[in-house]
Amino acid sequence: MDPEYFDVLIIGAGLSGIDAAHHLQKLCPAKTYVILEQRERIGGTWDLFRYPGIRSDSDMLTMGYSFRPWLSPKAISPGEDIRSYITDTARDEGIDRHIRFGYQIKRAAWSSDTATWSVEAARKSADGREEPVTLTCNFLFSCAGYYRYSSGYSPEFPGAERFEGTIIHPQAWPEHLDYTGKRVVIIGSGATAVTLVPAMSKTAAHVTMLQRSPTYIISAPEQDKIANWLRGKLPPMWAYRLSRWKNVAFMTYVYQLSQRFPDFVTAGILKKVREHMGTDYDVATHFTPRYRPWEQRLCLVPNADMFEAIKSGRASVVTDRIDTFTEKGIKLQSGQELEADIIVTATGLVMQAFGGIDLSVDGRAVDLSKTLAYKGVMVSGVPNLASVFGYINASWTLKADLICAYVCRLLNFMDRKHVRQVTPKSGNESAVAPFVENFSSGYMQRALASWPKQGAKKPWRVHQNYLRDAFSLKVASFDDGALQFSNPPVAAKSSERQLAAAVK
Ligand SMILES: Cc1cc2nc3c(=O)[nH]c(=O)nc-3n(C[C@H](O)[C@H](O)[C@H](O)COP(=O)(O)OP(=O)(O)OC[C@H]3O[C@@H](n4cnc5c(N)ncnc54)[C@H](O)[C@@H]3O)c2cc1C
Repeated sequence: MDPEYFDVLIIGAGLSGIDAAHHLQKLCPAKTYVILEQRERIGGTWDLFRYPGIRSDSDMLTMGYSFRPWLSPKAISPGEDIRSYITDTARDEGIDRHIRFGYQIKRAAWSSDTATWSVEAARKSADGREEPVTLTCNFLFSCAGYYRYSSGYSPEFPGAERFEGTIIHPQAWPEHLDYTGKRVVIIGSGATAVTLVPAMSKTAAHVTMLQRSPTYIISAPEQDKIANWLRGKLPPMWAYRLSRWKNVAFMTYVYQLSQRFPDFVTAGILKKVREHMGTDYDVATHFTPRYRPWEQRLCLVPNADMFEAIKSGRASVVTDRIDTFTEKGIKLQSGQELEADIIVTATGLVMQAFGGIDLSVDGRAVDLSKTLAYKGVMVSGVPNLASVFGYINASWTLKADLICAYVCRLLNFMDRKHVRQVTPKSGNESAVAPFVENFSSGYMQRALASWPKQGAKKPWRVHQNYLRDAFSLKVASFDDGALQFSNPPVAAKSSERQLAAAVK
């Protein structure tokens, strides 16, 4: 029996996968599509991560979809509200009927002879057994996020096996963990750590955030007063659009200011921290990073909750290096020992491109590290493949929306031109930069060598700028010398025959 065929196969039913399906339904209604999702639920990140306090660290007015207003008064939102927003979108638009759960895609092989991808997945049955399934499609759209789902990043800590308490990674939070009255040490200083500290300190005996070096932390109100005011005055979509543009403009301004005047921005952030923590607190040691603002993602904390937790005495920050784990906790290089019942290793993610699937084109394995990223959407030499990778300096969804609309525009263009294959060709362009530039976060540095690279000029640059992308993805022509359109030999021959018959 021939494998089932779809015009478009979407990998992943997270924020981006549902976005992709919405755009396909709206802009390419004649296309058939399916979403293959390895897990059992919609939501991706917002379903996987269940640690206490899980929330967005960017505002939902830009992290919501362009087509569906975010109606909650909380602009910095709890994870479960984001999960509901994604699930409700899928249900209301009938997208959920197109999702097949429990399909983990392992391999995808492109054939130029038929202009199809052959996609191999392992399907989990109800009794937990796995069976191989193959589907085919003309266009593969990876919405698989940017990190490995099976486990997060955990460095080897010396003596970890000696520790008599519980060690937890936030990516695999135990459902019924009771930390009431427990001493907790959280290793890390990123968004996850600064979320966990105030949340756990509500009931834990004490929470210590143990960091090797500090991160920029800024407080913002959980509610966006202007957005909430506009919502009371205008129809929901108008209010949403205005608030979205307000926040895009503000984020772009702050990012550009950080790039041009980093010392000025650093001084402003640290002044605010001092205002929160008081003059006696050692801001220089615990809240003054060694890098420039936006060289790593800024950590946003709602209503200064992290600072409040420290001031209340229920939480503290220690800046030091781990010497070894002990039976009772962690011994630091300074000689100090932190006693703990629970150690949380908020040490990050393992980045992964295209959901970790093996790609091949006409029998040749694709080595992504040797490819160039075309507009941050496709990769050189690989036909009919696109993926969503959002912004690191703004909300993910801003770029996801642009990419989804771009892919639909491209598919419609190909239909109009009667071509079934599009391949970005890099020609003489060579790699000059990693996929994400000037970003020093550990999880990026560990992974970027194996990711597609950037060339020196467009369309081989990956922008971290919504306005530039809006032009490049919404308006720019496909006739840019980099996209090569073709047809499989059989189709080409048959169009030649049709042409010959027509001429006769
Ligand atoms: C803790 C945390 C907090 C974050 N906070 C923010 C924030 O505040 N703002 C922001 O803009 N971004 C944030 N991000 C980035 C975040 O990942 C994006 O906001 C968004 O969730 C990405 O959506 P996605 O659908 O592209 O990827 P994901 O949410 O990762 O979803 C990918 C889906 O693809 C599936 N999948 C992957 N591989 C395969 C495969 N081989 N076969 C089948 N299915 C597969 C996964 O199971 C998953 O359901 C955060 C990330 C994390 C981890």
